[in-house]
Formats: sequence, C-alpha cells, structure tokens
Amino acid sequence: MPEKGLLQTKYIFVTGGVLSGIGKGIAAASIGAILKSRGLKVNIQKCDPYLNVDSGTLNPAEHGECFVTIDGAETDLDLGHYERFLDQELTQKSSLMSGRVLREVLEDERAGKYLGKTVQFVPHVTDLMKKKIKDAAEGFDVHIVEVGGTVGDIEATTFLEAIREIGIELGRENTLFAHAVYIPYLDTSKEFKTKPAQNALKDVRAVGIFPELVLARSERPAPLSAKKKLALFSGASEQAIAMLPNAESIYQVPLSIELQGIGNFLADRLNLEGGSADLSKWEDLTDKIAASKKKTVTIGMVIKYADNEDSYYSVNEALRTAGWHAGATVKIKPINAEKIESDKDYLSEALKDVDGMLIPGGFGSRGIEGKIEAAAYALTNNIPYLGICLGLQVAAIAAARKAGLKDANSTEFDPSCTEPVVHTMEDQKGKEETGGTMRLGNYDCKIEEGNLAHKIYNQDLIKERHRHRYEINSKYLPDLATGGLILTGTNPGSNLPEILEAKPELNHPFYIGVQYHPEFTSRPNHPNPLFLSLIQAVL
Ligand code: GLN
Repeated sequence: MPEKGLLQTKYIFVTGGVLSGIGKGIAAASIGAILKSRGLKVNIQKCDPYLNVDSGTLNPAEHGECFVTIDGAETDLDLGHYERFLDQELTQKSSLMSGRVLREVLEDERAGKYLGKTVQFVPHVTDLMKKKIKDAAEGFDVHIVEVGGTVGDIEATTFLEAIREIGIELGRENTLFAHAVYIPYLDTSKEFKTKPAQNALKDVRAVGIFPELVLARSERPAPLSAKKKLALFSGASEQAIAMLPNAESIYQVPLSIELQGIGNFLADRLNLEGGSADLSKWEDLTDKIAASKKKTVTIGMVIKYADNEDSYYSVNEALRTAGWHAGATVKIKPINAEKIESDKDYLSEALKDVDGMLIPGGFGSRGIEGKIEAAAYALTNNIPYLGICLGLQVAAIAAARKAGLKDANSTEFDPSCTEPVVHTMEDQKGKEETGGTMRLGNYDCKIEEGNLAHKIYNQDLIKERHRHRYEINSKYLPDLATGGLILTGTNPGSNLPEILEAKPELNHPFYIGVQYHPEFTSRPNHPNPLFLSLIQAVL
C-alpha cells in the first residue's frame, strides 16, 4: 500500500483463453485508449511467458515483427498496438519476458544474493515479476498488464501467479481482472458456441483469478443469449461482458468498447477519477477511413516473409494510415524478393499494377539480390520508392553498382566483398552476442535544407528509432552520387549516414532511403511524414 497522499495506481490485468491471436492486445490497448480519453494517466505492459529475454532474436515469420521503443527495447508487436492506441511513447518497462526475469534471478543466485536459500519460482521469480510490474505502474493512474498466450500454457503459470498475488496485496478496490475469450461460429448448424469460452473462464478461476470483465471476440456479432451465458459462467455482470465481433477497422474497437459502457463500468468499479470520455479523434479517424474508400493506391512491398502479415505489421499500418490521411485506401502487394532472382520477368510483371515501392527492414542474405534489383529498377523507372533500413542499404548497393562498382555489397551478405558500400558499424565490431547488441532506439538525424528529406519533415533535426548493425560506408558517398543517390541526413554526433535520396538532376518523383524505422513513430491520428509523403507522391 502506498503512503497516504501518494497516488495508488489501479491495475487492470488482461489474460486470455480459448486460443491466442484473437486480438487481446488490441482489446487491452483499446481499454487504455478509452481510459486515457477520460484524462487519466495510463501505462500498459506486456508480460510474455517465453523464455526469451526479448523479441530481438525471434523469427518475425513466426512471431510477427519486432517492435522497437525509444529507449531501444526490442519488443513484441503488441507494444506497437499500445503505442498507436494510447498515442504515447513506451519504454523497456512496458515489455517483460520471462527470460529477462529468470536471467536476473539466476544472476542473483550466482552472485550469492539468496544467502543459501532454495531459489524457487514462488516466491523468487514471482516477486521479481511483481516488482517489475509495479515499477512500470509507478506514477500512472491506471496500469494495464496483458499476459501473453493463454491460461493453461505451462510457461504462463508464473506470471499468472504473480498477478494473482498483486490482486490480493492491493485489494479488489485497486485491481481488476479481464479475460479475453473467443466465441466460434459453426456454419453447419448456424450457431455461436460459448462452451470453449466457458471452459476458458473455468480455467482462469482454477488459478485463483476471478475475471470481472470479459472481452468476447467473435468473427461476427453474437446474439444477446451468448452474452447472458458468458455472464452466467464467468460471474461477471452482464454490463461487463464486452462483445467484440470483427470490426471493419481495429480503430473502431475503442468506440465499440466505450459504447458498450465498459469505460463507465471500469470508472465505477475502480473508483477512477477523470472526466467523461472524449473519443472524437477515433470518430474522426473512422470517418477518414470511410472517406478514403473512393480511391485506391497499390504499394509493392519487396519482402521475403510473404505468408505472415504480422511480420511487417507497423509498416503495413503506417502505409494504411498514410492512405487514410491522404484520402486513399492503400493496397499492399507483396513482391517476393527471391522470385525476382529466379524469374527475370517477374519484377516488371509484378510492378504493372503498382504505384509505388517499399523495401522494409530485414536481416540475412535470402532474397537480397532481388531487393537490390528492385531498388535499382525503381530508381531507373521513376517509381516512387521508400527504403527502410535494409531498404536504404540495398538502394545504396544498387547505386554503387550503377556507378560501376560491380562488386559493391554489404559485408553482411558478402563478408569478403572488395567494395563494402555497406559495412559493420565501428562500435559493432567484435560483438559476439546477437541479442540486444545492435544500434537500437532513438538517435538524432540532421537534415540538410533544400532537399526532399527536409521537404518531407520540414525540420532540421529529427529523432527516429533504429535497429541495425551495418551502416552506409561514407567512403563511397562520391560513388553513390555518381550512381544517383546523395546524402541528405546524418547523425550529428557520429556523422553516420541516415538518409539517402535521388539527386535532383534525376527529377525522380520520390526516391528516399532511411537508416531508421519511421514505421514505429507512425500513429493512426498522425502518420509519419515519410509514409504520408510517399502516398502523396504516388497520388
Ligand atoms: N541487416 C541490416 C543491418 O543490420 C538492416 C537491419 C534492418 O533492416 N533493421 O544493418
């Protein structure tokens, strides 16, 4: 309990059942959005049961993108939802994986800090989890904690125990548990089935957690009878069952939750101060989305992971958002980088119905030659182009080759190449561990006046988020200029090249590559200027 006069943060814990991937993160973020709209200070945290220390080493094709915070935490993609819905910068504190906690416990054990005691999941691991959750909550009116995966996963039990204990320690007046469930629809019998959700609610009670808010996801609107059943089996009141069928846009979810009275329910139940909800910005966005339906633009995205949309989630979202603000619906067409290498007609064929091209970040040599070819094609054929991180690097390699450096490459893909146009950053040399060692998070970029980058940002100094190990080799800048690209943005301290763009003589409509990841700062209500300018250029 805090001392008298100190702020007591209210906690909302969100767990999930039935199956994962039903949009629990979006629901949690939406709860954050409606509470924030009441003038409350809200923080949000994802507790992931994996034994990984962070998301940096996870395969994006399996787990979705790795989101990066301002302070360089490599996190689960849910942090991206949180930032976009709360319109708020989060930090490492908002991302907690079991591996991070376990590592600390084991380090303490080796350091002799447990003074001969048996080290156990309960209380040692759970205590550290509780501490990290409370640390993240400090200074906020409301702290939302989402536990990843589903109740019943072996790995999740420790986090569930930790939040259960917080519930007891801080009391019912300061804590509330929400459980996200899924209601399947059976096409053959034309009915919704609540049984899996009922069982999931039973499972969560079995670990000592009694949810008072149920977030019921379904593909289509479920009838009132389903709601009544869930109330009966969960013990939650009917007004605290939020029915969440698929929405046309995820940004309608805050509106839907508020409309169902969940904001009022939470305010009453947790005795939250703050005014009435103002969701006008979500209403405006919904209007913009509807209005953008009249026009469509297609952006070709040259990628290697084509089968999981989540691999490039923030990039997709930034493109779509830019479209809404520019008055067009953005269609994203995946272009398979490896196929460009094996089929010589594929690229030009694939680009026939494409208005602009984007090459996002990436690692490893698979599909690299295809990406270099695509970047070269966009420069020569006046196709609007945005290169992000790896997308900048392949554009630089393409320009160097155009200037006659036939062996130009990145040492990431060809360690022995004779023209290392992209090479390992000085401070990355000799680093043996791969996890958490890249150049990560916010760095400044100074932009020269009178060029495309400055026109886009309309600022001399910007801050964007980074995640890379390699950089443009400044020695080759004259060659890059011969090949068509000039340097227009640099990091002030290190002089590290941050932005390359087509030289003015080329009269290219839009060709720019950036070493950072602008997708992480794009928000539904204010898209990152690079994406907006790309779509505007295309239009
Ligand atoms: N693999 C490249 C590097 O490490 C690009 C990284 C990225 O695109 N995020 O520099």
